[in-house]
Amino acid sequence: MAQLVHINSILVTGANRGLGLKLIEVLLASVNPPKHVFACYRDAGRTTDLQRLASKHSNLKLIEMNVASDTGIQSAFSTVESMIPNDGLDVLVNNAAILDKSNLCDVTSELMENSFRINTVAPLMIVKAFLPLLEKPKDNTVNGVVVNISSIAGSLMESSSLPDRYPYKCSKVALNMITKTLSIDLKDKKIAALAIDPGWMVTDMGGPNAPLSPEESARAIIDLISQLTMDKSGEYFDIYGDAIPW
Ligand code: NDP
Repeated sequence: MAQLVHINSILVTGANRGLGLKLIEVLLASVNPPKHVFACYRDAGRTTDLQRLASKHSNLKLIEMNVASDTGIQSAFSTVESMIPNDGLDVLVNNAAILDKSNLCDVTSELMENSFRINTVAPLMIVKAFLPLLEKPKDNTVNGVVVNISSIAGSLMESSSLPDRYPYKCSKVALNMITKTLSIDLKDKKIAALAIDPGWMVTDMGGPNAPLSPEESARAIIDLISQLTMDKSGEYFDIYGDAIPW
């Protein structure tokens, strides 16, 4: 299928392992790879795979960003901006997250706040910081794309039968609302915002029994982005492009 959005530049948070790393690998191996791939990590000691990739692909740049830190986000923005002063950013993937399964007995206000900080507040602050690059005019009909990696656990309809996981479920529900609100606020700038459930994957977070590989999920997510039109902005999709009930 013809690409509607060519990804010339993309930034992925939490890219040193799991789905984030697979997104980077799939993009770099594509027939027409992006000119600029920004892979964000928070701990330089855990970037062996990214460094191996960077030694082979000059279009890959490793960017330090602890998403829980406003100054970390701002400093990552300044670094990226200095690398692409003219091009702007096509796609921003808010992927970094933590899974806190706390039940009613264990949950504390600190645990709730920590999950909200990383899974909800950070994606919003990252979009806010990177807006000057997302809104730069490009050739694509969709000028910029924000992909918030959500979860089926963030669906009030679908996850109501799942027990516990107060921090994770609530932080992803709120991330979905951020996505919807961004889609309204950024419509005039032709920036689309999507919430995507990547499916249950074999990663550190998903564990070994999941039915999907992160590579399958990464491929499907990149296909979804490539086929995006502005009328899909504000949707909550699975990786096959089917709408998930909020
Ligand atoms: P992993 O736990 O395997 O990886 C999480 C990534 O997030 C790591 O790179 C981690 O970095 C990073 N991260 C966590 N906290 C921070 C922080 N404060 N600053 C910067 N980076 C941070 O998760 P997955 O790859 O499985 O999940 C990716 C996304 O998919 C998440 O949004 C998750 O909620 C969602 N998802 C996953 C499912 C699954 O089955 N795996 C199912 C549904 C949704 P570090 O290595 O430094 O810890």
